Amino acid sequence: MTSRPEQDMETNVTAVSAADMTDARKGGNTRKVFVRTYGCQMNVYDSERMTDVLAPEGFEATDDLEDADLVILNTCHIREKAAEKVYSELGRIRKVKEERAKSGKDMMVGVAGCVAQAEGEEISRRAPIVDLVVGPQSYHQLPSLLEKARAGSKVVETEFDIDAKFNHLSERAEKQVLKRPPSAFLTVQEGCDKFCTFCVVPYTRGAEVSRSVEQIVSEAERMAAAGVREITLLGQNVNAYHGTSPDGAVWGLGRLLRRLAEIDGLDRLRYTTSHPRDMDDDLIEAHRDLKSLMPYLHLPVQSGSDKILKAMNRRHTRDEYFRLIDRIREVSPDIALSGDFIVGFPGESDQDFEDTMDLIRQVGYGSAFSFKYSSRPGTPGATMDEQVPEDVKSARLAALQALVAEQQKAFNASRLGMTCDVLLEKTGRNPGQLVGKSPWLQPVQLDAPEDLIGSIQAVEIVDIGSNSLFGRLIAGQDDLGRSGRIPAPAA
Ligand code: SF4
Repeated sequence: MTSRPEQDMETNVTAVSAADMTDARKGGNTRKVFVRTYGCQMNVYDSERMTDVLAPEGFEATDDLEDADLVILNTCHIREKAAEKVYSELGRIRKVKEERAKSGKDMMVGVAGCVAQAEGEEISRRAPIVDLVVGPQSYHQLPSLLEKARAGSKVVETEFDIDAKFNHLSERAEKQVLKRPPSAFLTVQEGCDKFCTFCVVPYTRGAEVSRSVEQIVSEAERMAAAGVREITLLGQNVNAYHGTSPDGAVWGLGRLLRRLAEIDGLDRLRYTTSHPRDMDDDLIEAHRDLKSLMPYLHLPVQSGSDKILKAMNRRHTRDEYFRLIDRIREVSPDIALSGDFIVGFPGESDQDFEDTMDLIRQVGYGSAFSFKYSSRPGTPGATMDEQVPEDVKSARLAALQALVAEQQKAFNASRLGMTCDVLLEKTGRNPGQLVGKSPWLQPVQLDAPEDLIGSIQAVEIVDIGSNSLFGRLIAGQDDLGRSGRIPAPAA
């Protein structure tokens, strides 16, 4: 794939909700943990799981860094100079830690995620305030690692045993799930074997590993019982999923989706991010067969030039991608397609770039993520000849983004006047306003009472913005979600 997960770094810096984890306390001695999440949805999911693991240890989440007894930076290694940015953030945290020390309060500092995996011991060497460095596959060990750190050791744990991680993460407490939005992430697969030449994921997250069907179904059932209406299955290469079922058979993602669609109360399913090579027939047909599988697909292609696709080691051609899109649109004509594009990969000529623009024109995207190529140490792309000058990359990126913005606007405009099901997720900026999500993953703003949060309502789309839709609640309609109704254009 590539993914929005891999590419979408600093745009998403969040603290885990302070509402989480207030239930489990050890001996009444509550401590505060501040988790800052960088990057993709998989890191958001991991941050939630870290707070889940820490809750029984008496940790309660806080949004206030200065109030934290434990700070964890859950890092992402996709963007350029990712490690440097982490070191500079650690410099800011050091000052907060020094301030707290003046009033006799301690603060422990941990670095998690892909930068932790890539840098390892170097982090504690360069930033002595760091007590704990923990790679993405070791979060289940956080309590014991913290114990060691508290005893004075500098702890670095970057083993790649992903099975252990998922086998040992405790079951999510219903109370914790309840405090989160009606739409949730669920990691089903991690790591990648594709080795695209621009990507660090195979090095920072390791080889592809899938969770068992049983683990996933049981987590999804608990989420649904706690009121989650929509689950997005996550994986660096999610459609390479090959998990073992209870009878020992190996299931692909299509079969897993079919099983999850049977869970009562789970009205919407999505998955991200996919690689074109792994879109098999069963998965494509699931888009035809499952009403709860939303009509949205993030399917990165990265380039429209066969020469560049080969240099990127993408293992598919431009024509194969076109054929795949045709097959997907055959079963789901109204699907919103999304993609990732990298411009300025080494050796990309004007013609190669034009081939990418042509591919975008032919496919027609509802949205897309695009980036200038920047080299990652340790990847083959970093040492390739013919690096493209920055000003050329910038000009290409601007042209590509203008084209995608035009397509996104047209796709949004095509929803005008439709009535569709919207999952209402949270309050909006203005009083009386709620924000929800359309089947095609667009945010929808509308006036509605707060007690409708968590329900799926029929909404008429009355206006469009560049990124959002504006809707009107259809009066007198009940929550439609449990009927699994698919959106239909109004007359
Ligand atoms: S190496 Fe894997 S994770 Fe990275 S871009 Fe390629 S398919 Fe995606």
